[in-house]
Amino acid sequence: MAFVDISTLDPTHTVVVATGNAHKVTEIEAILSPVMDGVRFLALGELGDYPDPVEDGQTFHDNALIKARAALDETGLTMAVADDSGLCVDALGGAPGIFSARWAGEHGNDDANNDKLLVELADVPAEKRGAHFHSSVVLVQRDEDGEEVLSGEGDCTGSIGFKRRGNSGFGYDPLFLLDDVPGKTMAELEPEEKNALSHRFHALQDLASKLR
Ligand code: IMP
Repeated sequence: MAFVDISTLDPTHTVVVATGNAHKVTEIEAILSPVMDGVRFLALGELGDYPDPVEDGQTFHDNALIKARAALDETGLTMAVADDSGLCVDALGGAPGIFSARWAGEHGNDDANNDKLLVELADVPAEKRGAHFHSSVVLVQRDEDGEEVLSGEGDCTGSIGFKRRGNSGFGYDPLFLLDDVPGKTMAELEPEEKNALSHRFHALQDLASKLR
């Protein structure tokens, strides 16, 4: 795939979205474009083949900022959006949290992560299996005077099931039972349904409310 030539872009009307996930770009664009008039949203991967930054922050917000700033450094553009999210399980003191993607060792091994979650909660009864997904999103804007950071936070509450159900989504979706849709796991929702109640949706709404 040919990359978009950065020199042809108008930096005042371009937001680079620091993610490799095309679905996230669509989700982010749908919520932020109504409050960012005439702006074009482009995934970082459309602009070049850039290395992932080291996400060594202490919080979701820190890691989202690391991704957004890296996208600006790499592209020379002036506006970037990034998100960082994960699962926080009450009975595990909030783990895996910022380590959600690589909890079982290998980054992004969803199957191994879900196996680990079932093992860690093997002796935990239904009423103590509460959990939530959290998402932090940031919009970083740079100009000659420095940098402005706007952020949004969002949660989606539920509990961890005893076995996987559903084939949609990714990550911990097959084990996450939603408070909002009783009896269903996140992986049993249609993508549009998930997008309308997810932690990312709430975080983006929070950010959008600061741009109005
Ligand atoms: P990311 O910040 O969106 O890349 O998410 C980091 C990790 O958190 C993912 O690899 C998943 O393990 C988990 N995660 C984040 N959002 C979701 C979700 O919507 N469903 C299931 N797992 C998620």
